[in-house]
Amino acid sequence: MSRRMLRAALALLAALSTTAASAWGPDGHHTVGALADRLIAGTNAEAQVKSLLGGLTLEQAAVWADCAKGVDPTKNYAYTSTGKYPECAIYETPDGEAAMIDYVKRNDTNCGRAATDPSCHTQYHYTDEAIQRQRYRLGDVGTNNFDVVAAISATIHVLKGDPAPAPFDIKDKREALLLLSHFAGDITQPLHVGAVYLDPTGKIIDPAAGTYDPATGTQGGNLVQTIRVATNHTSELLHATWDDTPAVLHADHIDAAWLAKARAEPKTRGDIYGWSADWASTTMTQARLAFKGLQFGPFQGKDWTVPITGRYDDSMAPIKKRQLTAGGARLAQTLMAVWP
Ligand SMILES: [Zn+2]
Repeated sequence: MSRRMLRAALALLAALSTTAASAWGPDGHHTVGALADRLIAGTNAEAQVKSLLGGLTLEQAAVWADCAKGVDPTKNYAYTSTGKYPECAIYETPDGEAAMIDYVKRNDTNCGRAATDPSCHTQYHYTDEAIQRQRYRLGDVGTNNFDVVAAISATIHVLKGDPAPAPFDIKDKREALLLLSHFAGDITQPLHVGAVYLDPTGKIIDPAAGTYDPATGTQGGNLVQTIRVATNHTSELLHATWDDTPAVLHADHIDAAWLAKARAEPKTRGDIYGWSADWASTTMTQARLAFKGLQFGPFQGKDWTVPITGRYDDSMAPIKKRQLTAGGARLAQTLMAVWP
């Protein structure tokens, strides 16, 4: 097995082992949904959301796309996560599991992926625009027409009554709303949008088109192990460090002041199908902050390493709050634009 192949195999293993819990953890997604629930209260959008989701709130809906990752294509599309994730329990009914299985079957190989790549629907949750770029641009290394930017636009098409653009297969408005409520959060997670590409020594490189080597990809920080400087112990993956949401950012901490901040978020302008690209570009700014000052160690065995200090933890909290707030505000704005 060549070094490249070995690395690809290890990367796949890493991807498989982290899929179910990737993206903001459930708490971050709940917060984005809960903010939007409150921001659309009393509007036509709220009525439409209620009629599509039945008894579900956006807060609950916002984790569905991650719960669907419990469907395993290699086990004949069986749902294999029963009881594993408390936030998914509401979907673990016969009908609920059938709906997740149906979604995954339609969105497993539809993107024309390589057999060794992760299932298409799991790739809807992120993009990998290099942090050297100032803005997200479809066509750059790490972007594609089934990334989170495209996925959000696809859900809006369906909510507005149009078919989903290829390669997405979104069967109806309810499924589109479940997906949008999740992806609106993912696109604000800095490591879901802005990516570092590293050479074997851990130096950040620019994966300019033409010279791009897939072995330099870090999978949104899933191939970067953090090392706590204080204890010199390896800790969670860099991606997971960003997925974590401190207790003060959970939905039960949303108060009037936080809601006021969400209401004051600038509205996205222009064509609604260009909004998600705009949001990704905004996240790029936060991603550059997220990677600022980090010194990556050489690639060893299966990943790179990066030392993390308490000061780095402190710097993450305000970025997380800003991003979750933006996610909630944009989800609400989108729903109110779809259903004025
Ligand atoms: Zn996600």
